[in-house]
Amino acid sequence: VRDPAALAARYLAIDSPTGEEEALAAAVAEDLSAGGPRPELVEGCVVWRNHDGDPRATLLAGHLDTVSGVLPREAPEGQLAGRGAVDMKGGLAVAVALASSGPGVPLTVVAYPGEEGPLAGSGLARLRTARPELLAAHRGVLLEPTGGFVELGCQGVVRARVHCAGRRAHVARAWMGENAIAHLAPVLERLGALERREPIVGGVRYREAIEPVGVRGGIAGNVVPDAAVLELSYRFAPDIGPQDAVARLEAALAEVLSPGERLEVTEAVSGATSDPALFDGLIGGAFGVRAKLGWTDVAQLAWVGVPAVNFGPGDPELAHTDREVVEVAEVRFCAQALWRWLHADGAA
Ligand SMILES: [Zn+2]
Repeated sequence: VRDPAALAARYLAIDSPTGEEEALAAAVAEDLSAGGPRPELVEGCVVWRNHDGDPRATLLAGHLDTVSGVLPREAPEGQLAGRGAVDMKGGLAVAVALASSGPGVPLTVVAYPGEEGPLAGSGLARLRTARPELLAAHRGVLLEPTGGFVELGCQGVVRARVHCAGRRAHVARAWMGENAIAHLAPVLERLGALERREPIVGGVRYREAIEPVGVRGGIAGNVVPDAAVLELSYRFAPDIGPQDAVARLEAALAEVLSPGERLEVTEAVSGATSDPALFDGLIGGAFGVRAKLGWTDVAQLAWVGVPAVNFGPGDPELAHTDREVVEVAEVRFCAQALWRWLHADGAA
């Protein structure tokens, strides 16, 4: 198998913050061409296939962009460093290395821009709409950093605002008014008491998180405020959908919100589960299996009917930090594990 570490080093030398992925896309397209078929460029995505819509195909997917902020690339022997070393040029290099090593099994590689921003700017979302047939596969692997573990599924996301209301008054005659900021107290208390579920799905435990992430309120130092807003994030386990997640928040808050106060949902996106049976061989060759704590494009792949898992080199806790460093051995390990899995079961 072609050395993915050399490819990762090459990709790390090409900066690709969100919105500036063209140079990296060109390099990836060039490297993929070494595997025979030339990739297609669709909606900013590089799509490589060694088949013509084979339903037994495996999809390997990864994003081209990184968060912003350049990091030094000097690293000790045996490591790769720089912006994207963890998230996710190592994983991208693994996918390209496998495709350009003549895999001999039906394989699709998709490298897409715009992952580190809002979903509306995602190249994968545009590809999903424009050419969904290019994504067709019986199983998929998203090469996000997982430290060589298979991470099943992903969590769903609800973002919401709690609007609390009151009545303005002069602070010297506060009893004439109703303080909206004070109404946040029972809201915070109810949310704090709401159960964080830890369901086991597909043999792994998902851990939910409900957090206030922002607060706004107040008019002036001499006014009792009539409005206050609490911003909320709910990362929910994928055994429930976004409607159920919203319903949990609504039920929890129903008894503390007064008339005129409300929960406004600004985003509600489903997570995904992964059937571990489809990925047995990969799990066996990986460092282990656990749930993905976070939303990833495994959900977008599920929306087009491709069951997928997260698997790639790099410690997910270092993603987006200023210490993006990955072990060369881990990059190679992930490539070997995927190569063996591709050739061991089902795909051929
Ligand atoms: Zn990523």
